[in-house]
Amino acid sequence: MKRLDDYRGIETDAVLDDICQKGKRLSGTSVVHVNATAVGGGVAEILDNLVLLSNDVGVRTDWRVIHGTPFYFEVTKKFHNALQGQDVSFDERELDLYKRINEKFARFAFLDHDIVIVHDPQPLALVDYVPNSRPWTWRCHIDITKPNKQAWEFIEPYILQYKRMIVSADGYKRPDLDIEQRIVYPSIDPLAPKNRDLSEETMDGYFKGEGIPVDKPLITQVSRFDPWKNPEGLLNVFQKVKKEMDCRLVFVYNMASDDPEGVRVYNHMRKLAKPYLESQDVLFVRGDDPALVNALQRRSTVVVQNSTREGFGLVVTEALWKETPVVARKVGGIPEQIEDGVTGFLVERDDDDGFAEKIVELLRDGDMAAEMGRQARESVRRKFLITRHLLDYLNLFENVVVDK
Ligand code: UDP
Repeated sequence: MKRLDDYRGIETDAVLDDICQKGKRLSGTSVVHVNATAVGGGVAEILDNLVLLSNDVGVRTDWRVIHGTPFYFEVTKKFHNALQGQDVSFDERELDLYKRINEKFARFAFLDHDIVIVHDPQPLALVDYVPNSRPWTWRCHIDITKPNKQAWEFIEPYILQYKRMIVSADGYKRPDLDIEQRIVYPSIDPLAPKNRDLSEETMDGYFKGEGIPVDKPLITQVSRFDPWKNPEGLLNVFQKVKKEMDCRLVFVYNMASDDPEGVRVYNHMRKLAKPYLESQDVLFVRGDDPALVNALQRRSTVVVQNSTREGFGLVVTEALWKETPVVARKVGGIPEQIEDGVTGFLVERDDDDGFAEKIVELLRDGDMAAEMGRQARESVRRKFLITRHLLDYLNLFENVVVDK
């Protein structure tokens, strides 16, 4: 199991020493993170690594996952979509179920820690059902700048019961919300199986085991099958690229237990991509094994992220760290990560031709791709490693403990 000291040589000594001191000062403080799934999606990925390291430095850190029914997760995915701007409406039954599941979980979750951090909208309403709660923090991972009106009117009173909101980019702050707001960037763990170095033999083994052919350059998107990740649009971009250069498109996908849309979008995409799947120009690869995802992100010639909305996009960070050049849409948290033309390419939301052109440029110019990859890794090292993330949290915890 990893320890803080294992990050020496990757993270600066100054950051690691600061973490050690603050961890000692905070020993005896209890923290709990609450979210909606233990597996699948960026939040689970972050907590899976961060909670361990936080305990390692001496802060007693729990992780609770709200217990929901399938219908509850249908409703919360609808909330997720509505808060990201989709035009949907909610009936009383849906809103009641949302409240009821939160109320029920609040009864047995015992959220009596010194610091409570609630992630995303699914467990947001817990704050209403825990008596005498200390000031809580809402950690919002999604883009709530242009929400659907009904969803926002329902959600806002809950948000206002929190002491503060944490978002992933400056543009996500809401001046109309009268609570403290701060930015904490998400992060990747460079030592996790998803991101650590892999030998060529190990990668060969994964490719052979999965039957992934390597006779053509690979263009890869790693994502849940979610309409916001725009897999259908990516197929369109791929057709344009393929006219210029022979290559293969890989959809690496998994299912998150809090995302019931995954199966529907998957089935739709299988139909749409049928001829390409038959010719093996397009591959669907199940990405449940983090080391396989790691190998695919490393061996791809280009990693793409075609999202039309994106809270942050950890998959972008993961590819940048591996020095694989990335082409992605200029949406949500992605521009926080990519300096256009330096650490990757950013393309406007509707510009399929531009997206295809940038992929082709990278497929043709290996030197440029390699230089971008080097710059990308350094930028992740500076801004998006788990150690920096932990330090941001420890700084926050110190404020909260002083506030009390
Ligand atoms: N992921 C994975 N296997 C897959 C698809 C995704 O392990 O087949 C991981 C991916 O590596 C990343 C996370 O799920 O760590 C997705 O995070 P991101 O922020 O990109 O998107 P989200 O799903 O949270 O919207």
